[in-house]
Amino acid sequence: MKPFLHKVWRWRILIIVVLAIVTSIGTTFVLANSNQVVVQANVLNIRKGPGLAYDVTAQVNKGQRLTVIGERNEWYEVRLSNTEVGWVASWLIKNTEVSATSNQIGLVNAGATPIYASKGQKTDPLAQLNAGDKVAVLYQEDGWYQIKHADSVAWIAQSKVKLTDQVESDAKTTNTGNSSTTNSADQVVVVDSDGTPLRSEPSASASVVTTLNAKDTLTYVKTVNQWYQVKTSQGQTGYLASWLVALADKKTQDDTMPKIASNLAEATIVLDPGHGGSDTGALSGSNQYEKTYTLAVAQKVATKLRAAGANVVLTRSNDSFVDLAPRAQASNKLKADAFISLHFDSSENANEASGVTTYYYHNNRDKKLADLISQQLSNLPLDNRGVEFGNFQVLRDNERPAVLLELGYINTKKDFSYIQQNDYQNKVASDVVNALTAYFK
Ligand SMILES: [Zn+2]
Repeated sequence: MKPFLHKVWRWRILIIVVLAIVTSIGTTFVLANSNQVVVQANVLNIRKGPGLAYDVTAQVNKGQRLTVIGERNEWYEVRLSNTEVGWVASWLIKNTEVSATSNQIGLVNAGATPIYASKGQKTDPLAQLNAGDKVAVLYQEDGWYQIKHADSVAWIAQSKVKLTDQVESDAKTTNTGNSSTTNSADQVVVVDSDGTPLRSEPSASASVVTTLNAKDTLTYVKTVNQWYQVKTSQGQTGYLASWLVALADKKTQDDTMPKIASNLAEATIVLDPGHGGSDTGALSGSNQYEKTYTLAVAQKVATKLRAAGANVVLTRSNDSFVDLAPRAQASNKLKADAFISLHFDSSENANEASGVTTYYYHNNRDKKLADLISQQLSNLPLDNRGVEFGNFQVLRDNERPAVLLELGYINTKKDFSYIQQNDYQNKVASDVVNALTAYFK
């Protein structure tokens, strides 16, 4: 019995292998330019989202190939062995020539269209899509499209999707889209809200050419009365009411207006828990270190910011030493929409001082954020010492809106009794979230 079974299985396996090879050679092709990168590091973390704060979902080894399918905040969205999707820090990949693949956008053409984990309806559907839903198409294979779906990919019958000329553009998901596109026009128009009508004439009663979504960016042509004549990326021309959009100077947008996220959910926030590892920071009594409480507060702020949908990156997430330069660099590299450094003060002698202080360095860039946070910190049970200029390296080297908070005197008994409390730490976290919510409005 045994040898016989063995033989049958060998044949089956051989047939499956041959079929797999034939299928992959015969019918698989990439719709857009495939951009493959080769992992150079010995081990590279694949994360759930575009930031160091996201969980690691997988690791890949040196020499392994990844297909880049998206880009955000200098992180690449990559596909692993055709099923899993994750994010890798672009600066950890040595290949500098890579750029994100432009995934073609398809429109679902039927209601209640099921999508599957693998092609061919072999499993229960993952979800159902509605007619008109947009999908980013990665691959076509055997009458199926592989599409992006949540943190992974899914398959949808090719007959249920109509491909458009549109490609998935960076502008929709990130704030760096405008600066990298080359266009002869100097100015762009950015749409404020979903459903904004593009009209055929500069009048509210003119027919609607198409409707636009928030953050859609169009080329500015000229102004007629109080209407902007614009061109869409598909070449359609029409008019937008100037009061429904923002006109921005394309060249300087990035430099003079570092704050581009229009709400907290789209923002990348870098939180910087002061000190860590061998750098203990200030001391309370003989064995209570500043580094412990900066991390505790940072984690509470992070939790609340993530609940509000923000992309949060911590410069350290455990008790490890991180130098000052890389803290500001993280903010610059990620093009953070805000950088917040968390500290506790200490006075020369114990019990000499009390209260919280908010520091800024670059007046134009940081002051507004500092003012908003300081206003909120007035809720705390400790005195608010207000906003001050502070010559701190993490602020000085920062190219993004940045503030440093001294959240009480750790060597003052009264202050430390609060600093230790979860309640106080949570109040600080709520204050920071409220200030950022106001800041991005
Ligand atoms: Zn400190």
